[in-house]
Order: sequence, then structure tokens, then C-alpha cells
Amino acid sequence: MRKTPGILLTSALLVGSLSLNASQAAPPGQAPPPAARGKSRFMGPHPLAGRANAGYCYLDVPHSHNYGPDRPNLYQQVGDSYVFTGDPVPFGYEGQKTVFYGHHPVPPPAVSEPIPVAAAPTFCFLKGPHYHDYPQPNGPGYKVKDDVVFYVGPIPPPVAAVRPQIEQATEVEYRPFVALRPRVTVVPPPEWPGVVWVAPPAPTVVAAPAPPVVVAPAAPPVVVAPAAPAVVVAPPVPAVIVAPAHPTVVIGAPAPVIIRGHGKGKGWKGGRGWGHFGGKGHWKH
Ligand SMILES: [Zn+2]
Ligand SMILES: [Zn+2]
Repeated sequence: MRKTPGILLTSALLVGSLSLNASQAAPPGQAPPPAARGKSRFMGPHPLAGRANAGYCYLDVPHSHNYGPDRPNLYQQVGDSYVFTGDPVPFGYEGQKTVFYGHHPVPPPAVSEPIPVAAAPTFCFLKGPHYHDYPQPNGPGYKVKDDVVFYVGPIPPPVAAVRPQIEQATEVEYRPFVALRPRVTVVPPPEWPGVVWVAPPAPTVVAAPAPPVVVAPAAPPVVVAPAAPAVVVAPPVPAVIVAPAHPTVVIGAPAPVIIRGHGKGKGWKGGRGWGHFGGKGHWKH
């Protein structure tokens, strides 16, 4: 199994740092809660979560991450740990693979610590051909035909009770990855109780119909008359009316008239040539 050093280092730091909230526990055989916040313990390899196309975690020992499974339908819980039960290929796994066909128990991880005894064994509920990163489990109950592993053993009642629900959810999860299934042409062994899987049609992309192309008839010739001369009407010039200045009349004070009298007025004397006033004409006061 290939291990990515970066993942190995990061995950190794988390190994043993288990801190799983009791509320995250799910009854055996049932899917764990959706992507739980906080640390979660994974028992063996699994798709990495936290971002799209995150890749695959190849750690085959119990270890912790600071997130929960992002596809809860593909995990089952054993004790306080999540076990990835699905086909790892669609999630970036590259390594040795074994082709299985139909439901089968998931072999317990090779760990040194005691594995909690679950009420129901962990099963893979993938229908039809699919891959796993582990070889054919030891023990009875398996038949190999043309390098395809079939499980022909019993299905415990607790497993049979939850099988329809998990099987359906698993099928939905893998529907987008039908093209990544192993292509096998094999006749199942007679003791195999399953149903031959028929691949669902690949997801079809419904394209919107192209809009009809309408070819318009040729447009009649258009005679463009010369443009009429433009008449530009200038805006009227604003008339400025200057009011005549008001005439300014300055009335000056009248010049003073000073009349001085003399004790004796002497008129003209001797004016000749003035006729009547000649002689003795004088004023008297
Ligand atoms: Zn991991
Ligand atoms: Zn399987």
C-alpha cells in the first residue's frame, strides 16, 4: 500500500490523540452522523475530507483527524472509530486493489489494540463489482472466480436489518463514479445469493436544444435619401436693455446776494452822452 509521506507525518501526529465526543457515536451498523466537527478517529485508510478532491489517507492504523467523515454513508462505526467501507478508487486511491462482487464483511484492520466488538459486523454494501485496497479476507465464506471475490457466507440478522437502507445510500454515493467500477465478465458461483448487478446508466448531461436558426429573407434595397439640410435655429440673443441713467439734478444753493450800502451814493457823474442822466444825477438815500 502506498503511503504519502506528508499525509503519514500529519496523521502520525494525530495517532493516539483520540478525543471523540460521545455524542458522535452511532449505533452499530448505522451510518455515523454527518461530518462532525472536532476530532474524529479513523480506523484504517479513508478518503481525506475537509476540501474537494482532498485525496486518500493511506494510514492503516487507528488515527485521528480534526474532521469527521464527509460522506457518512460510506462509514460505519466500530467503537469510537470510523471505518471506511466503500470503494476507495473514486477518492484518489492508487495502489493494490482487489475486485469484490456484492456485499461482504469488511475485514477488521490489522491493529495491535483490541477491536471493540460491534453488535453487527461491519459490512460493505456495494452492489456489483467494486474495488477494495485489501485482499480477499481469510476464512470461509468466500469464493473467488476469475479473480473476483464473492461472499457466500451468511448475513447476520442485524446486518440484514440495516442492509436495505445503507445499500440504497451507498448506491447513490457511487452513482457518479460508475465509470470507475471494475469491468468484469464473470458468472457468480452458484452458492452466491446475490443478484447480478446491472450498471445504471451513466449520468447523462441534458443539453438544452439549440435554438432554431431562422434565415431572414433578403431585405429590400433601401434608398437612403440625402439628408435634409439641417436648419439650425440659433437661440435668440438675450437682449440687454440698459436703462438710461436718471438725470441727476443738482440744485446748488443760491449764490448769496450781498448788497452794501454807502453813506452817500454817488452815481455816475458826468456821463456824457447819456442824455438825461447827465448833469447832477445822483442817488439819495
Ligand atoms: Zn486518515
Ligand atoms: Zn466491498
